[in-house]
Amino acid sequence: MSRFQLRRDRLRRSLKSTGAAAFLVTDFTNVTYLTGFSGDDSFLLILPDKEVMLSDPRYTTQLEEECPGLDLEIRSPGTAMFESIRKTLEKSRQTSVGFESGAMTVQMHRRLTEEIPKVDWIACNGHVENLRMVKDREEIRAIRKAVDIAQRAFAVARCGLRGTETEQAVAHGLENQIRLFGGRGCSFPPIVACGPRAALPHASPSSVVMQSHGLLLIDWGADEPGGYKSDLTRVLVTGKISPKLERVYRLVLKAQQRAIDSIRPGVQCSAVDHVARKVIDRGGFGKFFGHGLGHGIGLDIHEGPRLSGGCDQPLKAGMVVTVEPGIYLPGVGGVRIEDDILVTRNGHEVLSNVPKDWDDSHVTLG
Ligand code: ZN
Ligand code: ZN
Repeated sequence: MSRFQLRRDRLRRSLKSTGAAAFLVTDFTNVTYLTGFSGDDSFLLILPDKEVMLSDPRYTTQLEEECPGLDLEIRSPGTAMFESIRKTLEKSRQTSVGFESGAMTVQMHRRLTEEIPKVDWIACNGHVENLRMVKDREEIRAIRKAVDIAQRAFAVARCGLRGTETEQAVAHGLENQIRLFGGRGCSFPPIVACGPRAALPHASPSSVVMQSHGLLLIDWGADEPGGYKSDLTRVLVTGKISPKLERVYRLVLKAQQRAIDSIRPGVQCSAVDHVARKVIDRGGFGKFFGHGLGHGIGLDIHEGPRLSGGCDQPLKAGMVVTVEPGIYLPGVGGVRIEDDILVTRNGHEVLSNVPKDWDDSHVTLG
């Protein structure tokens, strides 16, 4: 049995409690997760006796290749997707159908209920996302690959730093290296921020030149060929920085290390966040750590579970999360250090290994 069939079977079990006899998957990433289909504009309909991909003629050959075992409903040009859904449901005599309420626009929901009124549409949220939180062996392999590509790209980019580049040029160089090492591209637009701009947690790379700023924050990741993502952050010391920023660096690293050490199955996500927050609070910088500690990664760059104060979800073996505490001092600079962690049966494994000790963070500009 294919791993995609296994995922669909698990989804069926998860949907039992909803009372829906059928289920329409409209989120393209969820469709990919459940079928292996790498295109978009296609929905998956889970029926009691079969699973049908609803798509259009552009994808017929690709679907046959990527999704053996699935029934295909290819609509003719000019036929709307909703018409195709209605016909397929009528043929199968389904009257109660679940839909992904968290992945649908108001407009789309209106069309579903108006154009297919005989169906009782049941809002179901998060069923596929819950399955996606725990990765199988193939997915873990893919994330390792995404981490590896990102790390190689970073090593090359780091060696090439001259100090005369703009933040944008560093970002472009990283993306180029990610592609050369076999990635589809970056898993998100990299954040490259020097000096005081590192105090902006989501700074987009600007035309500021690195030189004369003592600090360079780079948050980047790779998208491997199957669509799985990595997400890493390092701060490089490229010149003279104040003793205060050095203290901040050491504190963030300590908070990150303590939080990583606490990761094992059964521990609540909020507890891991708390471990890091306590270290930063005690160091006197609590109010400068204004975001959650981390998030799951997979086909999406941000997915469940969230490592934040409000999340009482317990960690499970197979989850892959980032741990990324940060301290941001407005007008001065910021430090965030981020790694990707796999929850294992006995504890955890840190998937990324870009050096991060204080001494390792120093770069001599060539
Ligand atoms: Zn990141
Ligand atoms: Zn992140």
